Amino acid sequence: MEVFTKKITLYHQVLKLNAEHKSIGLVPTMGALHAGHLSLIKKSKFENDVTIVSIFVNPTQFNDASDLQKYPRPIQTDMALLKNAGCDILFLPSENEMYSPSEKWDYEVGAIANDLEGVYRPGHFMGVTQIVYKLFTIIPAQKAYFGQKDYQQFLVIKHLVAHFNIPMVLVCCPIVREADGLALSSRNIHLSEPQRKKALLLHKTLSFIKNNYSKLPIDKLLQKVRTDFETEDDVQLEYIAFRDKYTLKPIVTINKAIVLIAAQVGNTRLIDNIMLD
Ligand code: AMP
Repeated sequence: MEVFTKKITLYHQVLKLNAEHKSIGLVPTMGALHAGHLSLIKKSKFENDVTIVSIFVNPTQFNDASDLQKYPRPIQTDMALLKNAGCDILFLPSENEMYSPSEKWDYEVGAIANDLEGVYRPGHFMGVTQIVYKLFTIIPAQKAYFGQKDYQQFLVIKHLVAHFNIPMVLVCCPIVREADGLALSSRNIHLSEPQRKKALLLHKTLSFIKNNYSKLPIDKLLQKVRTDFETEDDVQLEYIAFRDKYTLKPIVTINKAIVLIAAQVGNTRLIDNIMLD
């Protein structure tokens, strides 16, 4: 595995690979890698000649300074996992390499970014689009791989790519879960053992909805969910939403629906979602 810390050297390497007609898959991450990230790498390796993984804890997408400060950064373990997964190139830039002090980013995605995560994490998607645009410019890959776990982020990046005519195919990969259903997340390490159990309520809720949406009306489903969360201490429901899976607008029919959930478990914020069809 080759490690690049400078954007210009990586850019020239990618141009060289493109000239050699090597297909390139890009997997952007913030590190603290787990099996969810590795599934994206596996998919990219299957579909491309060369897989590039980036690890960068992007400060501009954190609206909460303590969340950024405590974000895990186990770089040695990550590098071992990447080598083992057969990653060809790791891009590991510093903050100075990615940002200049005076720069501005004005791109507004629009409605899709101002809802759900956009409400609870103001400015989050501005930071996401800012860094993803930079990564896509430095690494002109043919495909980029993202997880359904951050589904709204995936749609926001689709808008970004369409807006700037970036010639890249975006691939959305399924959510990887623990055996008991908890969606893998780099933030799960912050959960104590009792909180880890309580965190299962997110997946249990989504499974309950998936199993019952054809039998019960949405308001009844929501009523049960709200009661379940109210009776669980140390867990705060932020949102549960039935949305159109293409537009994230409130649904007209349940067929194309995705259900998205976010909750605080102790001081850890978790998100999850499930498609209903
Ligand atoms: P992050 O390092 O959290 O920025 O995530 C990097 C990529 O991994 C994003 O596209 C995430 O959606 C994806 N990802 C995170 N968790 C999972 C998971 N449990 N299953 C599949 N993909 C995931």
